[in-house]
Amino acid sequence: MILVSACLLGLNTKYNGETNAHLLIQKYSSLGRFIPVCPEQLGGLPTPREPVEIINGTGQEVLLGRSSAQGEHGEEVTSQFIKGAKEVLKIVGMVTVTAAILKERSPSCGVNYIYDGSFAHRIILGQGVTSALLKQHNIPIYSEEGLTEKRLKELLNDDKAANGFLL
Ligand code: SF4
Repeated sequence: MILVSACLLGLNTKYNGETNAHLLIQKYSSLGRFIPVCPEQLGGLPTPREPVEIINGTGQEVLLGRSSAQGEHGEEVTSQFIKGAKEVLKIVGMVTVTAAILKERSPSCGVNYIYDGSFAHRIILGQGVTSALLKQHNIPIYSEEGLTEKRLKELLNDDKAANGFLL
C-alpha cells in the first residue's frame, strides 16, 4: 500500500480547512492502493488549525528532542506532531507499505523542504516530522512536486508486486 498525504487526495485536512488536491494522484485513487493519512489530525489537532512551523531545525531534530513545532502565535504542538507521526507508523505495522507520497514543505509531511520557523515563507532543506520518522523506518518517501505519471505508475506497479491484487 502507498501512504498519501490526505490533503493531496482531496480531503479537507489542510490547516485552513482546505485541500491540496493533486489531480494526477487523484486520478489513480480508485485503484485502492492509497491510504490517506493526515498526521496532524492523527496527532489530535483540529481542522482548521493554526499554521505550524518547526522552530530551529527539521523533523529529524524534533524527533531527537532538539527542535519544536509551534503555531504562528507560539502554541506548542510538538507532542501532537510526534504522536501523529507515530500513528502513521502504526499503519506501517499493519499493512505492507511500499512507499509514501507526501506534501512538500509541510512541517509534518515535507519530503525535501520545510519552512524555516520564521513564518516568513522562507524554505530550508529538511523533512517534516512524519517524513523523517518514515525515512528512519526505511519507507521510501516521495514529494508530490515533480511526481510524473510514469513515476507514479512505477510506484503502483511496485506496490502490486509486493501486495498482489487487492480482493
Ligand atoms: Fe496534508 Fe500532511 Fe498537512 Fe495533513 S499534515 S494537511 S496530510 S500536509
